[in-house]
Amino acid sequence: ATPTALLVGTGRGAQLGILITGPEVLESTRRVDTIVLDKTGTVTTGRMSLDGVHAADGVDEAELLRLAGAVEHASEHPIARAIADEAERRFGPLPVPESFENLAGRGVHGVVDGCLVLVGRATLLAEWALEVDEELAASAARAEAEGRTAVYVAWDGRLRGVLTVADAVKPTSADAVARLRRLGLTPILLTGDNETVARRVAAEVGIDEVIAEVLPADKVAVVARLQAGGRIVAMAGDGVNDAAALAQADLGIAMGTGSDVAIEASDITLVRGDLLAAVDAIRLARSTLGTIK
Ligand code: ADP
Ligand code: MG
Repeated sequence: ATPTALLVGTGRGAQLGILITGPEVLESTRRVDTIVLDKTGTVTTGRMSLDGVHAADGVDEAELLRLAGAVEHASEHPIARAIADEAERRFGPLPVPESFENLAGRGVHGVVDGCLVLVGRATLLAEWALEVDEELAASAARAEAEGRTAVYVAWDGRLRGVLTVADAVKPTSADAVARLRRLGLTPILLTGDNETVARRVAAEVGIDEVIAEVLPADKVAVVARLQAGGRIVAMAGDGVNDAAALAQADLGIAMGTGSDVAIEASDITLVRGDLLAAVDAIRLARSTLGTIK
C-alpha cells in the first residue's frame, strides 16, 4: 500500500464528513463483517421526550412528575433530561435533592422533600422489593410494545407511577442498515434498554439480531465475544457508556454528535452523527485499498 493513496482516501473522508484517526484505519474498515449499533443516540436521535404520565391510584400526577423530575435533574441521561425538562416546564424550578445517586444503566435515586425517590427500569423494583401494580404494568407494556421506554417511579416504599419517554429513529437509519447489509455486513442492535423496545426499534430499521438489557460495563464483553467467534467487528456508538466497546472493536465508529469520550475511543468519527456516513467510510476504504492492490 502506498501512503499517498491512503492519504487521498482520508482526505476524501473529510469531504464526506468522516474523520479518520490515521490511514491504517482504512485496513480494518475494509475487513469488518459485523456492525454493532448502539440504539440510543446512534440508531435513534437520543433526544427523548416525555409522552405519558400514569399515576397509581391515589397519587397526584403533578406530584409524580415533580418528584421524578427533581431526582432526574441531577442526571445527564437522555431519559433524565426528558423528565426533568418537562417537569420544569410545567412547574418551574424543581426542589433540589438532599442526596442523589446514579445507578448506571438502571436509573437514579435521591431524597427530595424528605422522601426517598427511585426512578428507573423495571428490574430496580425487584431489587427494592416493590410490588408492581397490574394497571401500571399494563401501561408500561403498552408503551414498550410501541418502542417507547417505561420508567418506574417509587417513593417511601411504594410504586407511585410510570412515565413513558419516546425517542425517534433517525430518518437515515433504515437506509443505512440496508446499505450496510448490501456491503456484506451483519447489523446487530445493542442496548441497555429492554428487549421489547429494542425489538421494535430493530424492526423499524431492518435489524434481525438484538442484544438488549446489557449493562454499560458489559457492552465491551459483547464485542469481545463476537470477536472470539471469529467476527471482525465494527461498533458504532455515541455515549460515555460505549467508549470501552468502541475501543475494543476492530473499528470504533463514534457519532460526532455524541460524547467526547466516545470520540476519543474511536477510529472514525461521523461528523453529522448520520450512519449513512459509515456506509461511505466502508466503501471509501474498499475503493481506496482496491486501487492500490
Ligand atoms: P442505552 O444502552 O440505550 O444507551 P442505558 O444503558 O443508558 O441505555 O440505560 C439502560 C436503561 O436503564 C434505560 O433504558 C432505562 O430503562 C434505565 N435508565 C438508565 N438511566 C436512567 C435514568 N436516569 N432514569 C431512568 N431510567 C434510566
Ligand atoms: Mg447511546
